[in-house]
Amino acid sequence: MVQETFFSKIIRREITADILYQDNLVTAFRDISPQAPSHILIVTNQCIPTINDIKPEHEAALGRMIISASLIAKKEKIAQDGYRLIINCNHNAGQEVYHIHMHLLGGCLLGPLLAR
Ligand code: 5GP
Repeated sequence: MVQETFFSKIIRREITADILYQDNLVTAFRDISPQAPSHILIVTNQCIPTINDIKPEHEAALGRMIISASLIAKKEKIAQDGYRLIINCNHNAGQEVYHIHMHLLGGCLLGPLLAR
């Protein structure tokens, strides 16, 4: 039994978020604590806890995450300069919300991938 997170409430618009994009598979909204000028979370509408839980039937939603990231980056006018997509999985990666989401970060020079 998958434990729902507050992301599901955002998707159902029961709690407020700055939603930039939504379709039948994914929802994208601004991160509440931005780590870059553009910091957007793209989440699967279905609550899948981690990348470890993905199954073949999730392929369409996971593909849509990347396609929507590309569209949103263009709308945010960060596509040309560049941006970073991150999916954290479990404790060692620092995953806090157990509902698959992709971070879209851009709008400045992001520096090295890993903090030391
Ligand atoms: P994770 O660490 O799981 O990869 O990322 C979770 C993200 O969710 C964090 O960047 C955090 O700032 C963001 N976040 C946590 N609570 C809220 C919230 O209530 N609203 C929004 N929009 N983002 C949130």
